[in-house]
Amino acid sequence: MENLSGLGNDIASVPSPNELLPLDSPAPMILFWVITFSFCAILINAKLMSRKISTTIYLVTIILGGIVLGGVPNAVMPIQYILIVIGLRGEVTFYLLVSLILGLLLYSSLLLGRIFCGFACPVGALQELISKINFKSDLNGQKKAKFHIEISSQVSSKVRWSVLGILFLLASVWSITILPEFNPLSGFLFLRTFTLTFLIPLLSLIVVCIASIFIYRPWCRFLCPFGAGSSLLSRFTGIKYRHTEDCTDCGLCEKICPTQEAAADSKKGECYFCNRCIEICPHNAIKFDMI
Ligand code: SF4
Ligand code: SF4
Repeated sequence: MENLSGLGNDIASVPSPNELLPLDSPAPMILFWVITFSFCAILINAKLMSRKISTTIYLVTIILGGIVLGGVPNAVMPIQYILIVIGLRGEVTFYLLVSLILGLLLYSSLLLGRIFCGFACPVGALQELISKINFKSDLNGQKKAKFHIEISSQVSSKVRWSVLGILFLLASVWSITILPEFNPLSGFLFLRTFTLTFLIPLLSLIVVCIASIFIYRPWCRFLCPFGAGSSLLSRFTGIKYRHTEDCTDCGLCEKICPTQEAAADSKKGECYFCNRCIEICPHNAIKFDMI
């Protein structure tokens, strides 16, 4: 594992893919994703995604997907490995497997937006739970929450794409791959293996948790490379939260949405199905629908 992020790595120093991205059996996690994704899509469509149910799903995702399965595989790993292939020339067979996982997840974004990020990703679920401290679903609660920082989606998107560009530049020009070293999703692996390799990702996970008290989903919106692609593709999905004819343009949903995605004409690339807009709407005028 030495020299992983340093300049001038040669092929002999490249760690084996399993050493770097343990992927002994991706099947349990993929099964968990499929079940969570389908279950949440059905609940959202049937307007049954209550606060209690969503909180239960977040907890199950953190415990089962994060602590029990170690967050492996996760949505960032394929991009992590693509960077390694570019910079350090990893094994192509492994590359094909992670590309398949990435393709599957990106396809889910094209199909139904950010449901995966909303509920099936352990870091996403953890940030969503913590965000409830300072990002409320009623205006009074929101006024009382003193420590939240609003950052526009335009800013977060610029930061995220710039970070992704820098990661690819570092990998392709200087063979430097730093993503494995700070991917907070790998922090769960420390809790499962107690291996020092995953200590920095664990620290990164802790930093993300603390930042989530003040900023809504900081890792998802500013740094996650999968989030960048998923956000882009989600804009094109035909099925998303839409305003019905009962909408009176009161603007409450726009005031409460932590990602400024609640407006009727919003593309919903950053809609994590947090349901704050649904909860605040006095006319029940938002539903999950086709164009
Ligand atoms: S944006 Fe990244 S970290 Fe956030 S929920 Fe999606 S995959 Fe997980
Ligand atoms: S549009 Fe609604 S569900 Fe989506 S992020 Fe905004 S408040 Fe949450």
